[in-house]
Amino acid sequence: MTSDSDQQNLRPPPHVLIFPMPVQGHLNSMLNLSHLFCLAEFDVTFIISDFSHRRLLQHTTVAATFARYPGFQFRTFPDGVPEDHPRSGRRAMEFMSSVNKVTVPLFKEMMIQENFLASATRRRVTCFVADGVLNFAADFCEENGLPLIYFRTTTTSYFWALFRFPELLEAQEIPFGGKSMDGLIESIPGMEGFIRRRDLPSFYRVVDLNDPILKDTVSVTMLIKRAQVAIFNTCEDLEGKIVEEVRKHVPRVFSIGPIHEQVKYRLTEKKVESSIITASLWEEDRSCIKWLDAQSPKSVIYVSFGSLAFVTREQVLELLHGLLDCSQRFLWVMRPDSIIGSEGEDPVPVELMERIKGKGLLVEWAPQEKVLNHPAVGGFMTHSGWNSTLESISAGVPMVCWPCFADQMTNCRIVSEVWKIGLDIKDTCDRKIIKKAIRDLMEVRKDEFMERSANLAKLVKKTVSKEGSSYNNLDGLIQYIKSLVI
Ligand code: UDP
Repeated sequence: MTSDSDQQNLRPPPHVLIFPMPVQGHLNSMLNLSHLFCLAEFDVTFIISDFSHRRLLQHTTVAATFARYPGFQFRTFPDGVPEDHPRSGRRAMEFMSSVNKVTVPLFKEMMIQENFLASATRRRVTCFVADGVLNFAADFCEENGLPLIYFRTTTTSYFWALFRFPELLEAQEIPFGGKSMDGLIESIPGMEGFIRRRDLPSFYRVVDLNDPILKDTVSVTMLIKRAQVAIFNTCEDLEGKIVEEVRKHVPRVFSIGPIHEQVKYRLTEKKVESSIITASLWEEDRSCIKWLDAQSPKSVIYVSFGSLAFVTREQVLELLHGLLDCSQRFLWVMRPDSIIGSEGEDPVPVELMERIKGKGLLVEWAPQEKVLNHPAVGGFMTHSGWNSTLESISAGVPMVCWPCFADQMTNCRIVSEVWKIGLDIKDTCDRKIIKKAIRDLMEVRKDEFMERSANLAKLVKKTVSKEGSSYNNLDGLIQYIKSLVI
């Protein structure tokens, strides 16, 4: 006779299929999730575009990291756009729709041809962890009898603000109809009293609610009701109230973030040599670390608007003047493809380059986590992408938030009004406002921002440590997936 635990030991490990949208922020957190599954001794098949895979091999140690886990494999597919497509900025949406049109059918073909859906083999997939922006996943899983786990790479608050679309409509809070952008929104439980029209996901800024991007964004959000599980890269200390609201609509919701911190903790716990593992699609310019080494503690503001956002040349100039007028030094990540309207011109005029020398450093891509954890960095001017925000919170660095689109509008309001670890200057781009915000953050109100940021950093580190809520939630998720193995 075999006992229940013997039975469990005789079973093959779970085989988890993970499919992220192949853009930087989504790859970062979903590779980290894969790492956590590998540490739990699961088999993992990670779907990625040829393009991103090549970039990862070129610029990171991801291949060596995952080579430690024999159950891990990448499966690569074309993303359907030409090699020189920017896959970001104004053309990010076009790229994402190409992934749905080109990659998804090829992926489905592979699933059948390679027996990933056949029962009673080790290859059989136990569950599908789909990026929350992939709308084919619900039908695909139902057609094939696969449990669906949706992974949302954004804040739960952003997700929740989209999920409340029907209630916002019923309460006539959308469309905005020319009402003040500062008016408060009342029909999103957990966010009353601080979310204004201007803080809602940018997709709500439309005259016609039939706008195709808004419609697609809301409809993919609603698909979560067909999932068995939702995973959020957040934690109870940051968004507990909102996670509770989502729990009323999905059978199981696991908040396991910040995932990058959870990976570090679990690696240390298992005594696996751990350093910051990055998944950069661009070459990191490490010269900026040397430059930071030469600066005084907490004297530098780090400036980056992530991997997808774009800025106009006028905005670059305004931001630059704001920074040059401050007494702080700055390190600015200026992706060459991120500036529009500078075709044929240098994004930064020569006379300004002269002023930058000695005061600031421009790089094309930085080792961001290392930068944020560098003692010289005392502030982060950010677009409020969720990965960047979590990395800043974990490093205890306060923020000046200048959001561009999507969840960034909502994230920065929470940074400034709920956690109170930064200033939100959305919908403005004026050198005087920029100068004042940096001065307030790093001089006038430095102590209060530093204290709150340090406290929040401690809280999120605790949440991923043994007996912390994110730690326990990850264990719960692992147990649930194990229970699915037939
Ligand atoms: N990042 C980086 N180096 C840079 C700029 C960004 O490694 O110079 C990383 C950053 O650490 C984060 C990701 O790129 O993990 C950006 O994700 P986020 O969600 O913040 O923004 P997105 O790019 O999706 O708008």
